[in-house]
Amino acid sequence: MATIFTKIINHEAPAEIVYQDDLVTAFRDINPKAPVHLMIIPNKEIPTVNDVSAEDEQVLGHLFTVAKHVATELGLSEKGYRLIVNCNQDAGQVIWHIHMHFLGGKDLGPLLSETE
Ligand code: 5GP
Repeated sequence: MATIFTKIINHEAPAEIVYQDDLVTAFRDINPKAPVHLMIIPNKEIPTVNDVSAEDEQVLGHLFTVAKHVATELGLSEKGYRLIVNCNQDAGQVIWHIHMHFLGGKDLGPLLSETE
């Protein structure tokens, strides 16, 4: 089922695309949680991590190559950044097209709080 992200990939919906190639698109999150908050996504429609198959390994590995590339372009490599992939309700996934959150531009603090 296509989501808004497919429209962004196809330039049918507005977004600030910072990188795109045959496999992957990266664009700024509409509701940023950090000074730099990007979505890095496969152009292929894969709803969740649960839907990944072995044939997706090239494109999913490429998400990291693109993360490294945009980090360099945006001058964030040395200070660092955080990459997050949510899967389903308990992780808060709301867009059913796999996406890597790229967050940076400030001290992001610890990822996990002390809970039971
Ligand atoms: P999730 O919670 O599914 O891991 O994150 C989905 C992300 O997509 C959220 O950070 C949300 O702000 C972002 N998002 C949702 N709709 C749009 C949109 O139409 N355009 C852009 N650029 N980002 C979106």
